[in-house]
Amino acid sequence: MKLSHQVLIIGAGPAGLGCALALQAAGVEDVLVVDQKGVGASFEAWPEQMRLLTPSFHSNAFGFADLNSISPETSPADFLNTQHPSGKAYASYLRATAMHYELAVETGVRVTGLRRVRDCFEVQTSQGIKTARFVVWAIGEFSRPDLGGIEGAEFCLHNSQVRDWDQLVVGNQKFTLIGGYESGIDAAINLMHLGKEAHLLSRGHPWESDDPDPSRALSPHTRDRLKTALIEAPGTIHFYKNAEVLAVRPVRGGYELEVRDGKPFHSPTQPILCTGFRSALEPIRELWAWEDDHPVFSEEADESTLTPGLFYSGPSLQHRGMLFCFIYKYRARFGIIAREIAMRLGIETGGGLDLWKRRGFLLEDLSCCTDCQCAVSADEEKAPIQTAEVIEYAQAA
Ligand SMILES: Cc1cc2nc3c(=O)[nH]c(=O)nc-3n(C[C@H](O)[C@H](O)[C@H](O)COP(=O)(O)OP(=O)(O)OC[C@H]3O[C@@H](n4cnc5c(N)ncnc54)[C@H](O)[C@@H]3O)c2cc1C
Repeated sequence: MKLSHQVLIIGAGPAGLGCALALQAAGVEDVLVVDQKGVGASFEAWPEQMRLLTPSFHSNAFGFADLNSISPETSPADFLNTQHPSGKAYASYLRATAMHYELAVETGVRVTGLRRVRDCFEVQTSQGIKTARFVVWAIGEFSRPDLGGIEGAEFCLHNSQVRDWDQLVVGNQKFTLIGGYESGIDAAINLMHLGKEAHLLSRGHPWESDDPDPSRALSPHTRDRLKTALIEAPGTIHFYKNAEVLAVRPVRGGYELEVRDGKPFHSPTQPILCTGFRSALEPIRELWAWEDDHPVFSEEADESTLTPGLFYSGPSLQHRGMLFCFIYKYRARFGIIAREIAMRLGIETGGGLDLWKRRGFLLEDLSCCTDCQCAVSADEEKAPIQTAEVIEYAQAA
């Protein structure tokens, strides 16, 4: 079969572009990135008020990379002059990086199917069939909202659909948020800034989690924002813990939420789901092995263990129980994927990836995933967020 490209990368977000840059550094040519929308489209769609919670800082001179950079020699802090970029600003950093390094990107190309044919891949797209020897699947999770298994979720709005909190709240006073992780707390703070009341219902009480892994607990940035919000406008954010929402029904004057072991909760406005996102691997589920409903990645190169030549880059990556959902985490494997593809193509990478390795973009040793030295147990001094408004919902029945 005559191949359209050696490597096809699907998705022009940080994961896809980061892999393209690593492949370029490794000396791999004929790499095409395709995207259904445009470079950084998910970030473009973030609500106006949302900011990256991971801080950007340009300390490259000392050999560290900016936490939010997608390559060792770029820095969003340096380019954008801000520590917590907005989605639109971060998208402009991605576009500038793709342009500066002259990456081949085709936009407006939606991938609708992928199959392995002999030793290469046939990719169905909105612009016809493309073929490649290797595929890097990097479609992200943003376009795949998780509706939390809630019956009647279609009556709610997922927080990824909010473009601007300012526009959403016109005329309304009281809002109900379902989910108490980063997105839920971010939504509550934004509503509070707009002078609104937020009622946040959550299955457990994740805002109090003390897990050392920022993938599983509120980031320090969000904790700081929340503390300030609670001081500035006490009584505007109400937390309901152990309030697992099972169903949502429209009723006269709003919506009724059925809560496990609790009395129904009334929301005068459309409830907002802050229930996260689904795995980016679901659309190609059959090409991947799954264990306990988690996709399995080869430790050597984040490749499918069922479909050789198919790699994954992005926030759905997991190894040894560790989530790689932040940019600074999954970018640690860009160099690994690039080195593996270069090797299989018989390309000598020379020192091309040395800098990638030195700056943490080529992480081979996954023992850090289980041996986290930062996991110092919480002591009594470390108080949970002071949220006087926490209501134990399950007992409220
Ligand atoms: C609200 C929110 C806040 C976050 N905050 C942070 C943070 O502070 N720090 C951090 O490190 N991470 C943060 N994350 C996570 C971070 O945004 C993701 O890790 C990152 O966007 C994932 O990058 P990606 O390239 O995998 O996906 P995306 O950025 O979503 O890029 C995927 C691309 O694939 C395209 N695509 C999708 N389907 C197809 C298809 N079928 N065919 C062709 N193209 C397709 C999309 O248009 C998109 O451009 C946050 C995520 C969310 C949702």
